[in-house]
Order: sequence, then structure tokens, then C-alpha cells
Amino acid sequence: MRYIFHPDALGHRPPNYIQRGERRPMPEKPERAEALASVLTARGGVLETPPDYGPGPRAAVHTPEYLAFLESVHDRWVALPGASEVVTPNVHRSNAPASYPTHVVGQAGYHLYDTSAPIAADTWTATVAAAHAATHAAVLVATGETRSAYALCRPPGHHATRDMGGGFCYLNHVAIAAQASLPLLTGQGRPPRVAILDVDVHHGNGTQDIFYSRNDVLFLSVHADPNVFYPYMAGHAHERGTGTGEGYTINRPLPMGSDEATVLAAIADSLADVARFAPEILFISLGFDTFKDDPLAAFGVTTPGFRVMGEMIARAGLPTVLVQEGGYAVDALAANLGSFLDGFEGV
Ligand SMILES: [Zn+2]
Repeated sequence: MRYIFHPDALGHRPPNYIQRGERRPMPEKPERAEALASVLTARGGVLETPPDYGPGPRAAVHTPEYLAFLESVHDRWVALPGASEVVTPNVHRSNAPASYPTHVVGQAGYHLYDTSAPIAADTWTATVAAAHAATHAAVLVATGETRSAYALCRPPGHHATRDMGGGFCYLNHVAIAAQASLPLLTGQGRPPRVAILDVDVHHGNGTQDIFYSRNDVLFLSVHADPNVFYPYMAGHAHERGTGTGEGYTINRPLPMGSDEATVLAAIADSLADVARFAPEILFISLGFDTFKDDPLAAFGVTTPGFRVMGEMIARAGLPTVLVQEGGYAVDALAANLGSFLDGFEGV
């Protein structure tokens, strides 16, 4: 197992976001990554800094307008009279045909679908660094240099769509990594194919959006019922892909308060789907916010439960890229990642 981490990911520090109409402290903070890194070094691991893969990998997933927006918006925003220190939209796209706005306020509304993706001075640098980490993990596995790799990404990425950020996410790191792996794979006599299994407590709506019409990337997600939980507007079982992608999106929403056995059973069912698809690489969107004491808690997974989850994923027997997503119980993150890796590496 190789561990990949870019220290620039620590630079993203928006102090707050808007939830239920109130400004609240950001639970997605650098201390999360510090806690996760601490357990890797405590296990005797070496944190490898990824090389700079340039703009190509992110441009293969996101639109040029969105990338230019993310890179430039903070400087333009803080130059506005009376602007806040972090970019937060106050207009949003409607269903009517939209023209691309030139003003920064319009662009913030065009590209940010909620008030949970505040953009601060170093947000772009941090999410680019995380994208390089995920890409590097994918390249190492796709080229056979290692059987498995863990990318310590922060901020998370799975809520970012092709051209919108939301839910603490800006670039979609797992999507960028999966896309970057495809040209490196042999295909074993057919077009190369990979699977992404998202075990974060929130539906991976951004990843689903990016691959919804594709049959070379199977997307599976186990998450809390979007009728009553973020991201609210995606993640239902009837969302199964479109066109050639029909049947290649598999959602398993679970009731709020689902216990550990229920969550692990849904992951087992998802891994059975993965086995039928027979991908060359299994990507995991690894969130620890299924933890029973997570501040965004919806499920009852315990620290020992993450060990079982790690064992189950390892038993799939596939080259695996683990990409860090959510998990906000900072004091328990190290123990939960350590438990997961004990299970995964013990198989
Ligand atoms: Zn989450």
C-alpha cells in the first residue's frame, strides 16, 4: 500500500459556511488531514508527495469555464466592495436557458449549487494538490507499480459535478483519478473499465453526474436516504444512468439511523455488483462520516466496523485506489482510518 499526500491540501481554510441560514464554523478543516496523516506515519508509512500532473487530468473531467472560475474567483470576489472573505453565492442557476454570466457574482451562482462550498484564498491550490494525489495513486495502480494506494485528499471531491461545486467539494478527485487511469489500462481484450464505490454517508452526486452516461465507469454509492439528507436531489435507487450508461449507476440509499450491519450488507451487495462488472481497478470514495459519532451522523458504523469494511473491500481482490472523502469526527478519524487499513492490509 502506497500513501499519497500533498501538503498544499492543508492550505484550504474557509472559516465558515452557511447552514440552515446561519454562518457556522467549517467542519471540513485542515486538522482532518493532519489526523489522517498521523495514523499513516504511525503505521510506519511514508507519505509520498505526488508530482504535478498539470491541467490535463482535471480538464478531462471538468469544463473549461468551471476550472477558470475556480482558479480566479477568490481574487475577483474579494475585490468587490463589501464582499465576504470567502466566496458564497447569493444567486443560483434556474431551469430556464442560462447564459454564462461575466460578473463574478453571477459566476459564483452558476458554478456553486449550495452555500457549503466556500472558496477561500488557497482553496484552488488545495483541491489541485488533492487532485494530483488522487491521480498519482491511480497512475501507480494502473501501471502496476503497486496493488493498492491511498490518496489522502482534502477538501473532499465527490459532490463536485462537471461544472459545479457544492458540499465542501470543488474538483472531483476520484473522478479525475478514475478518468486518468483508463488510458493506462490494457482492457484485457475489451475497452478498459473501472468501478467507483462510494461509501461516504452522503451520496456521491458529483461523481454520478460525471459518469452518468458512460458504461466504462461503474458508479455505486451506499448512503443515507436523500429524501431527508444531503445532497437531497440525487441518490435515489431509480437513478440508474442514461443512454449507454443505463444500468451503470447503482444507488443503495439506506434509512437514517441505519446500523453497522445494514451499511456493511449494502456494501457487500455493491461489491457483488463490482465483481459482475469485473473492472480493472476499484476506486473507493472513502468517507468516514458513516461513523456513529460523526457530527453529520446518519449511520452507526463503529471503529471496529471500519476494519470489517476494509476486509470486505480487500477481498474483492482487485487493484484498489482509496480516495479520501468526508469524515468530520476529527478526534476519531485516525482510529477509523487505522482500523480500515488494518482490515484492508490484513487480507
Ligand atoms: Zn460525506
